[in-house]
Amino acid sequence: MKQLLSITTIITVTIFMATTAIYAQSFKLERVEPEFWWTGFEKKELQLLVYGEDIGKARVHINNPGIYLRRSIAVENPNYLFLYLDITENASAGEVTLSFSTNSQTLHHTYTLKERKGSDNRHQGFDSSDVIYLLMPDRFANGDPSNDEIPGMIEGVDLDEPYARKGGDIKGILDNLGYIRDLGMTAIWLNPIFENDMPYNYAIGAGFYHGYAATDMYRVDRRFGTNEEFVELVETSQQMGMKVIMDKIHNHVGTHHWFIKDMPTSDWVHDQSIVGNTNYRTDTLMDPYASEADLRSTVKGWFVDEMPDLNQRNPLLADYLIQNTIWWIEYSGIDGIRMDTHPYPYKDYMAEWSRRIMEEYPDFNIVGEVWMQNVATTAWWQYDFPTQSGYNSYLPSVTDFPLYRSVVSGLNEDAGWDTGLARIYYTLGQDFLYTDPFLNVIFVDNHDLVRFMTSVGEDPAKFKLGIVFLLTTRGIPQIYYGTEIMKMGGANDPDKRRLFPGGWPHHEINAFTEDGRKQLGEKRGLPIPEVFELVRHLSEWRKEKDVIHTGKLTHFIPYDNVYVYFRHNDDETVMVILNGDNHNKSLNLERFSEFLGKYRTLKDIITGKESDIGSVIHLSPRQAMILELR
Ligand code: CA
Repeated sequence: MKQLLSITTIITVTIFMATTAIYAQSFKLERVEPEFWWTGFEKKELQLLVYGEDIGKARVHINNPGIYLRRSIAVENPNYLFLYLDITENASAGEVTLSFSTNSQTLHHTYTLKERKGSDNRHQGFDSSDVIYLLMPDRFANGDPSNDEIPGMIEGVDLDEPYARKGGDIKGILDNLGYIRDLGMTAIWLNPIFENDMPYNYAIGAGFYHGYAATDMYRVDRRFGTNEEFVELVETSQQMGMKVIMDKIHNHVGTHHWFIKDMPTSDWVHDQSIVGNTNYRTDTLMDPYASEADLRSTVKGWFVDEMPDLNQRNPLLADYLIQNTIWWIEYSGIDGIRMDTHPYPYKDYMAEWSRRIMEEYPDFNIVGEVWMQNVATTAWWQYDFPTQSGYNSYLPSVTDFPLYRSVVSGLNEDAGWDTGLARIYYTLGQDFLYTDPFLNVIFVDNHDLVRFMTSVGEDPAKFKLGIVFLLTTRGIPQIYYGTEIMKMGGANDPDKRRLFPGGWPHHEINAFTEDGRKQLGEKRGLPIPEVFELVRHLSEWRKEKDVIHTGKLTHFIPYDNVYVYFRHNDDETVMVILNGDNHNKSLNLERFSEFLGKYRTLKDIITGKESDIGSVIHLSPRQAMILELR
C-alpha cells in the first residue's frame, strides 16, 4: 500500500510538471496602451505597453506595409511587453494585426491607426488674450445623478462628508457652459478627470474627488462620465468660443493604479521605505548650495502616502507618459495643459516632455504649476531662462505665485516703504527675470489656496481691487469657480472646494441665474450681483483689447498707497488707478503727463462715465478705476 501510494505520487508529480511546462508557454493579453494611435506624427516611434499574464514570453510579429517592429522589450515582470514600432510615412490609417506567439499558442490583436483630425478649432493654446475659468469637476455641478455610484468602484457620494465625492460631473459642466461663456471666460481649466478609483479614509483627509491620484491615465473617471463625453465637452466648448485646458500629473499616480498593483519593473516608482516623503522644497533644484540629500528628497520623495512617486528616469515609463499626453491632445482636441507639481519629477524628463509636446503642437500651451517662493525661482522654470547649467525647461507658462502673494499681502497690510500696494510694484519690477512674463498665469485664488474673499477679510472693496488688477495687469488671468460670486473658504482643502450653489438638485439658491445671485447676495449681505457684473464686464471688455493682452505695461511708484499703471500700444492707452487705502484721495495727474499729455478725455470702463482730463482725480476709499484715454 505504501509503495503504491508513492508510485501514484511520482506519476502525479510527473503529470503536474508536464502540465506546467505546457502552461509556461501560454499567456494572456489583457491590455494594450495606448488603445489606438495615429499616422502622421513628427515622431515616428510608437511605444505599446502590452499587459497580460506571461505575455513577456511571447514573440511578436507584424506584417503591415510601412509599419516596423523595431524592439520588443521584456522586463522583470513577465506580465509586460513593451513594443517599439516605427509608423513610417508609408503607413496608412487602418487596422494592423499584431501577432503574439509562443511554441504552443498564438494570439492576434487588431490595433487601429487613425488619421489625424485637422481642424482650426483644435489645439489653439492659450495666452494673455484669454481669461481662464478653473473648476473642480466633482464640485461644480451634478448633471447626471445616475453616475454618482458606479458598481465596482470604491467610493460613492456622501453630501455630508467634506472629503467625500459630491457627484459633480462632465454633464454638469456641459449644462453650464453657457454660464461660463456669459461670464466672459475664453478658456476652461478642469482639475483632473482621470479615473481615481482609490480607497478613502476621510478621518485623515484622504478623499480623491480632486483627481490627483490616477488609477488609469487613459480613462475618464466614470463618476465624471466617459472619454466620449469629455471629447463632447471639448468640442462644444470650442464651438462656443472657449478653449479647454487639461490638468495632468506626471509626478505621481494613486496606490491603486493598475500598474502599481503589478509593477513592470522594481524601479517604476521610488521606494518610499528608502526615500520617505518629499520635503516639498523645490528650491533645491536651482539652489547652488543644495545638499544631495535634500535634492534627493525633493525629487524622489512621495507627495503623500497614497501617491507613489514615479521614476521618469526609467525610459519605458518616460515614453509611456509622453505618449499618454500626446494621445489625450490628439484624441480630445484640447488646447492646453496645466501640469501639476511641475518641479517634482526629474527636471530633464519634464523638459523633454514639454519639448516633445510643443514640437508636435506648436500652437499649444502648457502652464507648469511651479509653486515657488520668489520671482527668481519661478522665472527659472520658464523656457530659455539662462540657468548656470544650461538647462532649458521648454515650459512656456508658469503659475505666478509671487504676484499672487503680493496682491493678497498688499491689499491687507498698511502701506509703507515696501508694503501695501508697493508689494505689487516691487514684484512686477522683477519681471526682467522672466523670458516672457506675459505668459504667466495669474490668479487671486485657486483650488489649493484660501478663497480670495476670505483672504481679504471678507472686504468687498479689497476684493474688487484685486479683480480689477487681475484683469488689467500683464499675464493670463485665471478665475476660480465661485470667485465671481464671492465664495468664501479657509485653509482646509474641502473649504476651498465647496459646491457651486445651484449645481445640485437640493440647492435652494441657483447662482447660475441672475435671480439666484440676487438672492444669494441678499442672504449673505454681499454685493454678489455687482461683483459678478464686474468680472463679466471686464472679461468681455478685455476680449477685444489688444492693449491689455499685449500692450506695454508702465507703472508708477505707489505714493500714499495709490498704484497707477498704464497699458499702452501704438493705438490705445488705458490708465488703471488703485487706491489701496480706506480714505478719500486726490490724485494729482501732473506726474503722469508722459501718457496723459496727448489725450483730452477719459472714459471710466467700470462706470461708463466720460469726462475731460483735469488736473486732479478724486478717489473714494479703496476705489479702482480703469480709464480709456481718448
Ligand atoms: Ca453625477
